[in-house]
Amino acid sequence: MTTLPDLTARTPGLPCRLDPAPFFSDQATERAAAVRLCRGCPLRPQCASYALEQRIPHGVWGGTTAAQRRSFHNGRPWRFDDAGRLRLVCGSEDAYRSHLGYGERPCDECTAAHTAHVEAKRRQRLADEHALGGSGVGYFLHRRLGEPSCEDCREALRLERAAAERRRAARQGHGQPRTRSGTSRAAKRTSGAPAGAQPLPIAS
Ligand code: SF4
Ligand SMILES: [Zn+2]
Ligand SMILES: [Zn+2]
Repeated sequence: MTTLPDLTARTPGLPCRLDPAPFFSDQATERAAAVRLCRGCPLRPQCASYALEQRIPHGVWGGTTAAQRRSFHNGRPWRFDDAGRLRLVCGSEDAYRSHLGYGERPCDECTAAHTAHVEAKRRQRLADEHALGGSGVGYFLHRRLGEPSCEDCREALRLERAAAERRRAARQGHGQPRTRSGTSRAAKRTSGAPAGAQPLPIAS
C-alpha cells in the first residue's frame, strides 16, 4: 500500500517540503497561510486522512489545523466541503448543527437526521412522564408526536387544569379550601386536585 510519505517523496514541489516552517508555526497567521498553500496540493485528501488517522496533534496537514482535527479524533466521518473546510459527513444531528453554525440551510439528509433526533428526544421525555404516571407535558408530547394522548396523560392534564383553575379562583377570593382527595399518581404530582374536579374539554 502506498503511504503518504511515499507519495510526498514522489511529488516534487510540495509547499510543505519547500518550506515547512509555516506548517508548524505557532503563529495563527502563518498557519492560515499554510492552509491556503495546501488548497492547491494534489495530495490534500490523502494528507488530511493520514493526519486524522494518525491523530497527529500538531501542524497543518491537508489544509487542516491541529485544532480542527481534534474534534475528529474520535473517528467521526469527515469530508471537505465545497469551500475546502473539514466537515462532518452529512446525516447526523451534529452535521445538522454544523450547517446551522456555518449559516447554511441544512441538507435533506441532515434534516431527516434532525427530525429523527427530535422525535427520539420527545419519546424519551414521554417515557419519563409515563414512568411518573402521565402528565400534562406528556399530553402535549403525544400531540407533538402526532398521536392520540394516552388516558393517564389526558387525566393528568385535566387535573392540572382543574388545580390551576382552583388556584386562580382562590386568588380571587372565591376558592374553596384545598383537599388531597382524588389521589391518582398524576393528581399527586400536580397540586392535589380533587377527583371530582370539573372536567375541561381535552382532545385525545
Ligand atoms: S496537503 Fe499540504 S501538508 Fe499535505 S502534502 Fe500537500 S502541501 Fe504538504
Ligand atoms: Zn448535511
Ligand atoms: Zn401519555
